Amino acid sequence: MKTSELFTRTARQAPAEEVSKNAQLLIRAGYVYKMMAGVYAYTPLGLRVLENIKQIVREEMNAIGGQELIMSSLQKKETWDATGRWDDEVVDIWFKSKLKDGTEVGFAWSHEEAIIEMLKTYLTSYKDLPINVYQFQTKMRNELRAKSGIMRGREFIMKDMYSCSINAEQHEAFYQSSIDAYMRVFNRVGLGDVTYVTFASGGAFTQYSHEFQTICEAGEDKIYQIPSSGQAFNEEVAPSRAPAFADMPTEQEDMNVVEAEGLTGVGAIAERLAIPRERTTKTMLYLADDEMVAAVVRGDYAVNVDKLRAVLDAQKLQLASEDNIRDITGAEPGYAGLVNMPEGVRVIVDDACEPLVNFETGANKTGQHAANINWDRDVTKPDTFHDIKMAKKGDIHPETGEVYTIHKTAEVGNIFNFGTQKSKDTNFSYTDEQGELQYVHLGSYGIGVTRLMGVLAENFSDEKGLRWSDEVAPFRVYLVRIGNDEETISAADTLYAKLQSWGIEVLYDDSEKRPGEKFADADLIGIPHRIVVSPKTIAEEKYEYKKRTEDEAEILDIESLKSRLTQ
Ligand code: ATP
Ligand code: MG
Repeated sequence: MKTSELFTRTARQAPAEEVSKNAQLLIRAGYVYKMMAGVYAYTPLGLRVLENIKQIVREEMNAIGGQELIMSSLQKKETWDATGRWDDEVVDIWFKSKLKDGTEVGFAWSHEEAIIEMLKTYLTSYKDLPINVYQFQTKMRNELRAKSGIMRGREFIMKDMYSCSINAEQHEAFYQSSIDAYMRVFNRVGLGDVTYVTFASGGAFTQYSHEFQTICEAGEDKIYQIPSSGQAFNEEVAPSRAPAFADMPTEQEDMNVVEAEGLTGVGAIAERLAIPRERTTKTMLYLADDEMVAAVVRGDYAVNVDKLRAVLDAQKLQLASEDNIRDITGAEPGYAGLVNMPEGVRVIVDDACEPLVNFETGANKTGQHAANINWDRDVTKPDTFHDIKMAKKGDIHPETGEVYTIHKTAEVGNIFNFGTQKSKDTNFSYTDEQGELQYVHLGSYGIGVTRLMGVLAENFSDEKGLRWSDEVAPFRVYLVRIGNDEETISAADTLYAKLQSWGIEVLYDDSEKRPGEKFADADLIGIPHRIVVSPKTIAEEKYEYKKRTEDEAEILDIESLKSRLTQ
């Protein structure tokens, strides 16, 4: 293709309101057009990259037996009623509308329920299973913050795959093969060495899930990696041990109650008592199913509700309301603690609190905090301490004793094991060999295709522009003609035809721009191989060749050029 045929133009500057690096670069180079925040159109250049990524994903999904299909973007309300997600407040990303006759419809933010509804009609016997289907489809999500360019769109392309298996064993085998297939995808697009398979929180509907997290400065997630191994955890589930606190007193002091009306929050309390935050505690009250629970962590930590839920084995866990707190403790919020803990409240204490000496805790009386508290002497020492804290910088992986390395990451993929929970909810069953009804084992597997393109733009770029790899680049060669005389035009046109005859896709800058501008465009657009034809190269009967990732150009004859590009 010639640049003169492209309707897009490069720009030296991105729109002022665009804050993300990936979108700035992609807009300037002419890959995407911003329609509004979180909504982008893909130009012919952008579509080529997207299609290359999709093709890699497609090949790997086909390799594990996936069958491609495409679902609809409009969905009916009834489809979502079975799992209660049409009116579920947790799903806060709905875009909903109405037909002219008033019938409610939704724009697909996920296709789990729609796919199940469809597959249910066909998969009724053990002979029909297993089946794995996938699609590339636009998802629409009313995202609150869409400031990460194409990495968080309100409209974006996802590859979503669904597996239906007859039993846990068959499901597990497919689930494992999907992890391998995903890693092959990330390897092929060049992100294999910075992508981690992490354990993630399963949420209410799943038994467990894994995420694929790619190290990326612009990512919105954090992972905790064990340095000596590739194993990593999402922040919400990272098991953690606090590093030893060096300044712990060795002598116990007398307990005292501090009267301080209005003094709440560990920062203020620590300051007032002139002790480090590490010797304060934070008590949070929760309603777990029907039980009142006090979760106690060291003052410099936050409670991790996923860990707490697991310790309690609770289905529902919610923070107690201010009125609940007043009812239970008899005090205003902010004074709950281990001293005078009302009976009937189950107390779960984090393990970072075990070594505390002379610590602070709330006294369950408005305006009172208890200082110099010691286990057993002043408050009952729990038989077991649990890990219920949100991991933070400096924390240790309990099993290996290693301090975690923390990375900023982007979630590029996510896989879920639903077990039979979802098929029970949606009544998706099959008849087994004995003629008995059994529930289908379901899994769901996503890759954010447009987010992946955004991560590539973020990770493979420099101050001059993009740096696509051969695997995803819109064209492999950027041919730059320097000179507008007949001889140069003819030489460049000839090379353009020759490269194409070798099966190489070429973007040919046939414009009359100044050389400086042409080189700047080549760098911005980021095609991996650049070839220059100019009166100078013609005189030498050679070509100037440079890789986008290298600084120095080489002068090559046609044979070396060919072997360089076709090896
Ligand atoms: P996130 O936590 O980033 O919102 P999610 O858990 O909502 O992601 P899933 O519903 O599991 O994501 O979707 C599967 C994949 O789709 C994600 O792993 C991610 O790569 C991608 N994705 C999710 N939301 C967006 C979005 N708004 N824009 C682009 N890609 C997205
Ligand atoms: Mg989301």
